[in-house]
Amino acid sequence: MSVQTLLELLRPFWGDRSVVASYVGGEFVEGHGSTVEVRNAHDDSLLLSYPDADDSLVALADKASKGAQSKWSELTGQARGRVMYQIGGLIRQEVDSLAQIESITANKPIRDAKVEVAKVAEMFEYYAGWADKLHGEVIPVPTSHLNYVTYEPLGTVFQITPWNAPIFTAGWQIAPAIAAGNAVILKPSELTAITSLVLGVLIERAGAPKGLVNVIAGFGHTIGQSIIAKADIRKVVFVGSPATGRHVAVSAAQRCIPAVLELGGKSANIIFDDADLEVALRGAQAAIFSGAGQSCVSGSRLLVQESIFNKFTNALALAAKSFVVGDPGDPETQIGPINNAKQYAHVKNMIVSAVSDGAKLLGKDADPIPNRPGYYVNPTVLVGTNELHCAQEEIFGPVVIAIPFRDEEEAIRIANDSRFGLAGAIWTRDVGRAHRVAKAVRAGTFWINGYKTIHVSSPFGGYGESGYGRSSGLDALREYSEVKSVWVETAAKPAASFGYGASLE
Ligand code: NAD
Repeated sequence: MSVQTLLELLRPFWGDRSVVASYVGGEFVEGHGSTVEVRNAHDDSLLLSYPDADDSLVALADKASKGAQSKWSELTGQARGRVMYQIGGLIRQEVDSLAQIESITANKPIRDAKVEVAKVAEMFEYYAGWADKLHGEVIPVPTSHLNYVTYEPLGTVFQITPWNAPIFTAGWQIAPAIAAGNAVILKPSELTAITSLVLGVLIERAGAPKGLVNVIAGFGHTIGQSIIAKADIRKVVFVGSPATGRHVAVSAAQRCIPAVLELGGKSANIIFDDADLEVALRGAQAAIFSGAGQSCVSGSRLLVQESIFNKFTNALALAAKSFVVGDPGDPETQIGPINNAKQYAHVKNMIVSAVSDGAKLLGKDADPIPNRPGYYVNPTVLVGTNELHCAQEEIFGPVVIAIPFRDEEEAIRIANDSRFGLAGAIWTRDVGRAHRVAKAVRAGTFWINGYKTIHVSSPFGGYGESGYGRSSGLDALREYSEVKSVWVETAAKPAASFGYGASLE
């Protein structure tokens, strides 16, 4: 797909603009920093280049978000909800073109992009319903007081998102933040900023005040750090790699700014021999190969009971060869390329080092790296132990490590032998075992006889080094709120407080 096609697709949203720029206070503002280069993962050609956002944007974004937040919080919850429904509606109207833009700029198979964009509409619609229901509580305190609790907007929140599901993750974070009355400064990955910028435009078109959602096009270590260090932000919400997450949280902590971290995972997908194995086999493929494994919840450790280990893993390796791997723009493509050159090199290195560490590459003529240009990796099945580096570190590609286990106790031990805790799953027909294992595995999301279903209405987040805090569901509204407790004396003759007895007479 040519750059010209991309510019045509973008025209309805940003006119004749040909240079990527930040969207702040309802205006596109070009940066003056070093050059950001975005390459086409299908053939390694240059897709876009643009100047990094510079520090002058910090003050602009601060002013714009403050002004917008005060207008937004003066609206009734119903009025905010109506605007948010409208945002969902505009996204639905544009599903096809947004999906094409996402497919081109995030190197994502068009069929996956369509599904993800439609879910973004749902996120705004779901939180539209909450906008007038974020009511407080009355606490039955054991004194003569009426004690009530209110939830207030934080102000401006700063959100940082990665490249693997750009518009999906932007919607996932923006919708609860604005439903709770906040303004947003969003810094998407510099590699995949385009659909987040378009989302910023649509949010304003739907009736939100200019500056309610500001989208910054630039690097994390430059403008990202400047915003954390200088902007008047009340929370930092980071989605991305564990190493960067730690750095971001430390920077925020220097200013006493709280953070939510949504980081990586090494999730265990556990198959018992009493499962419906046909269904489990399809589940194991979806768990790791969809999105070319570039998903934080991927089932990247496949734990299979010894009695069925060979049969199951051989069937998986055979299935892995049947996927259509290719051009993201082709509607037949099931697995696209790895998003960018750096990640591609990481995935290739992880496969090479896994094999030299003793993992076995499964399948006849298994060829993880196809002989063609672009950042392609074939779906790959490795067999090994949980101690291997490839079983402990995130690969973030279509690569699964299969590990045998004897019984329930050993499955739980292996599943929990990880510093991560984002997700996990069990496949079994034994309902008691399903719930026991769900309880015992340390992970923020767990599936029984399924994988990868998440929904905006249910809380999402990690244990351990997968991060802290929750996005989605009611929990996200709480994350994006300040909690206030108000005490009202109701006694006709209040007890003298603290023993003081002074009188005006
Ligand atoms: P990354 O950590 O390199 O980048 C994420 C974001 O942080 C980008 O916007 C980047 O520009 C920004 N950033 C980089 N350095 C920064 C700095 N010094 N200060 C401030 N911001 C900075 O991650 P990535 O490579 O874009 O994404 C892949 C990772 O994200 C994987 O580890 C994956 O598991 C994780 N991820 C997690 C979730 C989740 O919900 N838990 C979702 C998607 C991706």
